[in-house]
Amino acid sequence: MTQPLIIYNTLHRQKELFVPLHAPHVGMYVCGPTVYGDPHLGHTRPAITFDILFRYLKHQGYKVRYVRNITDVGHLEHDADEGEDKIAKKARLEQLEPMEVAQYYTNRYHKAMEALNVLPPSIEPHASGHIIEQEQLVKEILDNGFAYESQGSVYFDVAKYNAKHHYGKLSGRNLEDVLNTTRELDGQEEKHNPADFALWKKAQPEHIMRWPSLWSDGFPGWHCECTAMGRKYLGSHFDIHGGGMDLVFPHHECEIAQSVASQGDDMVKYWMHNNMITINGQKMGKSLGNFITLEQFFTGQHPLLTQAYTPMTIRFFILQAHYRSTVDFSNEALQAAEKGLARLLDAARALEKITPAATSTIQVGDLRQKCYDAMNDDLNTPIVIAHLFDAAKSINSVAAGKETLTEADLKELSETFQLFCFDLLGLTGEAASNAGREEAFGRAVDMLLEERAKAKANKDWATSDKIRNELTALGFEIKDGKNGSEWKLNK
Ligand SMILES: [Zn+2]
Repeated sequence: MTQPLIIYNTLHRQKELFVPLHAPHVGMYVCGPTVYGDPHLGHTRPAITFDILFRYLKHQGYKVRYVRNITDVGHLEHDADEGEDKIAKKARLEQLEPMEVAQYYTNRYHKAMEALNVLPPSIEPHASGHIIEQEQLVKEILDNGFAYESQGSVYFDVAKYNAKHHYGKLSGRNLEDVLNTTRELDGQEEKHNPADFALWKKAQPEHIMRWPSLWSDGFPGWHCECTAMGRKYLGSHFDIHGGGMDLVFPHHECEIAQSVASQGDDMVKYWMHNNMITINGQKMGKSLGNFITLEQFFTGQHPLLTQAYTPMTIRFFILQAHYRSTVDFSNEALQAAEKGLARLLDAARALEKITPAATSTIQVGDLRQKCYDAMNDDLNTPIVIAHLFDAAKSINSVAAGKETLTEADLKELSETFQLFCFDLLGLTGEAASNAGREEAFGRAVDMLLEERAKAKANKDWATSDKIRNELTALGFEIKDGKNGSEWKLNK
């Protein structure tokens, strides 16, 4: 049975019933990373939020085409129309071909997403592979009179557009607000109006990422790619467009304007945005020294981190907040998430070992529907987790012999746990339990070596040799030093 899903549509500032345009098909486009640096905490939230939606829509029986792009050209510094291309700058600094930079960081991004158990999208188009589609879009907007050419570049004519349509309807601004908050930057003299944005930029002589066009050798404006690629893979009208709240303006506002100016109407039915992440109450930024990459989280190698955190702890922590609320990262909060996740995973393991009884002393029947209700309420994952914690408490009582469950109830509880904890929230038990198991094995070997040290101190050479030989036979290499013995596993 398909559950009625309610999602918050940023465009109308309200929760709306999700009704796909062409059920059972659902088209979903999410803005992906600009690949010029290591994946960091800021990348996790949109990836995990829309992973939950992707998983849930598929579970509902929809055939979901999920497009998440890779921005490898056109994204200039400060998200502005002037300045160096983010990838070209990194390439210049590292003396690499820009596509080497893009490939390297795309690979790093994929690796991090896999560790976080984020499912790969159906299509992952690169902006640089869709220059023709972007030029076509620019041409359509020019032909319809909503853009103008200026010294080889093409700009979107915001004032002209705004006279007919509302520029600012997604972000809730009007043109006056936009003009008041637009920074004066170099190169603005090419524009008729400071609010205008670049659709095509003529490349400066030193600019290496360039393509021929009707207007100049150059490159597309940053906002073009998502409109052009969304339309190419999802059609001129599709269901969901998502991204971080920081993209509402100007990126998504410009996408709407480009869509209306080219095809005459909106391309997207539901706009969804995840809120931002702060670190110890501060915005994350390279200049603030609180910029933590995912690898640094996974290894604990950052001055602000007191320990390493597994990818699942990060995922669980993010899911403990509703995607439209802010999330503040701190060591204390992550340690609490680590404990909470362990409690759920322990309960899932305990569940497997429970033997059924003739009667049930606790109610499990409504857990599944309660979890569905929370998911259907704009993907309220913290409520789903709260229900799972309640279930974990019951499981522990049954495991301790204080309560009992029938075979049918046990099956219902196991299935619900599997569905929500693992299939839909995408949590996995393996990473944590492997690390835990290895630590336990290590401690056991330490204990044996302590016994051997005692035997040696007592001149019990037979026992000392026996421990050493048996460990060696198992593949351990034992090194005796001044401060006792060390070991490593040679397998
Ligand atoms: Zn985008």
